Amino acid sequence: MQEYKVAIIGGGIVGACLFSDLTRKGVSCVLLEAASDVSNGSTKANSGIVHAGYDPEPNTLKARFNIRGNQLYPAMCARLKVDILQCGTLVVTDEENRNGLNELYERGLENGVQGLRIIEREELHTMEPNLAEHISCGLFAPTGAVISPYLTCIALCEEGVINGGEVKLNFMVDKIEKNEEKYQIFAGKDSVLAEYVVNCAGVGANTINALVGAPEVPMKYVKGEYLLLDKSQNGFVNRPIFPLPTKMGKGILALPTLHGNIMLGPTAIPCEPHDTATTEAGIATIKEKVELSVKTPNYKKVIKLFAGVRVISGDDFVIEKMEDSHFFYTAGICSPGLTAAPAISEYLVEKLQEDGLEFEPHEFVQRKPYVCTEKMNKKELKELIKNNPTYGKIVCRCEKISEGEILEALASPLKPTDVDAIKRRVRPTMGRCQGGFCLPKVLKIIATYHGITLDDVQLNGENSQILIKE
Ligand SMILES: Cc1cc2nc3c(=O)[nH]c(=O)nc-3n(C[C@H](O)[C@H](O)[C@H](O)COP(=O)(O)OP(=O)(O)OC[C@H]3O[C@@H](n4cnc5c(N)ncnc54)[C@H](O)[C@@H]3O)c2cc1C
Repeated sequence: MQEYKVAIIGGGIVGACLFSDLTRKGVSCVLLEAASDVSNGSTKANSGIVHAGYDPEPNTLKARFNIRGNQLYPAMCARLKVDILQCGTLVVTDEENRNGLNELYERGLENGVQGLRIIEREELHTMEPNLAEHISCGLFAPTGAVISPYLTCIALCEEGVINGGEVKLNFMVDKIEKNEEKYQIFAGKDSVLAEYVVNCAGVGANTINALVGAPEVPMKYVKGEYLLLDKSQNGFVNRPIFPLPTKMGKGILALPTLHGNIMLGPTAIPCEPHDTATTEAGIATIKEKVELSVKTPNYKKVIKLFAGVRVISGDDFVIEKMEDSHFFYTAGICSPGLTAAPAISEYLVEKLQEDGLEFEPHEFVQRKPYVCTEKMNKKELKELIKNNPTYGKIVCRCEKISEGEILEALASPLKPTDVDAIKRRVRPTMGRCQGGFCLPKVLKIIATYHGITLDDVQLNGENSQILIKE
């Protein structure tokens, strides 16, 4: 049986940050993920904003880790070689609600957000020409940014693997036994041993806590639906545009993605833990509410609807250690959890060390980014194709993704097998046609690479095959 110092349960952004931090400190570490790829929970379906930190109530874990996480992101993205768009964020409103904006500004100052300023109508409409006419003032936070949440999570896990850690996919933890000083963690008949366990299971946090007798954390689930517009709408907004936040959340926003799409959403609808269905009512709400901040978007350019589930536990994050044990748990990591994750990990590393975990000197190995032919100049591309002609065969016409890029993703450290796992790494099927043209080719490349039949290729995890028979 394989044995590790630390087992992390859950490959979302929190588990991934911790996995990367511990492996870089030379700790033998395994990341156990129930799904067929990491980043398959809340981390794959959110706004991707690295929040500045004016929104959380002062003196909460949310405020503390939001601010620290925001500070850690630029260096983390540089180390991982993933993109971050340092565009800032804007909260906008009309004259009637100016007091609310001022309060948000004051809260931001109290939380320690740098560079915040209130912007008046003329400057605001120059920065963002598609704001709704009635918008007269805004709060600009230059430290706000946009990332690709799933690629960042994948990159962290890849970094952990190349620095000596192990990721076990399709490992749904269903039993934990404590034998003297070690935990035996099971997924069916498979199991691993570890001295320390950290529960980062998001929606599944209480299930894992129950396996070791740790307290049940009160949780509720709130769905956020989105509309994604194609790249022809690039520039509709230049940074995330929020309305004034309310107790119900940050409201419906319009924002650019890292790849030049525009995203509208999310809604906030109480739901069951795994309910990511999109609804007509949700779409109607997005359309109605987004136009309180911006001019009417071109809805003909919508290419995708999707939803993510927030896991909320009271007013703050829960990050605890179970008494008389080496079992730590996180729960209720809702927004700004993506932003806070590197800081939550930093805190957990500190707590693990206080609990006796030792670090080993370790020579850091840097992760290589995926080749992106679209970003290359003609000379670089010509050279690449000369050395490897598969980079010259375009498979996904919308996103201009070559066969070589897909093959490279298939060979990457986590050895992804599903269509969506490849999509999250190098973007085939992500464009206007949503796979209408390239999906058969992508299936064939995956099947050939893994030596399986076309009808064995899954979309996203078990029982999601695309073809019933060849
Ligand atoms: C609509 C929406 C918008 C958001 N926007 C933002 C934003 O712009 N900025 C921001 O900072 N935050 C945002 N958030 C919050 C952010 O997405 C979450 O805080 C963050 O993704 C939580 O990460 P996590 O690792 O805790 O959980 P998850 O990403 O859910 O990961 C938990 C993992 O545990 C795995 N798991 C569960 N049970 C088991 C088991 N038994 N065995 C093994 N594995 C298991 C799951 O498969 C999953 O992969 C948003 C959230 C939503 C839903």
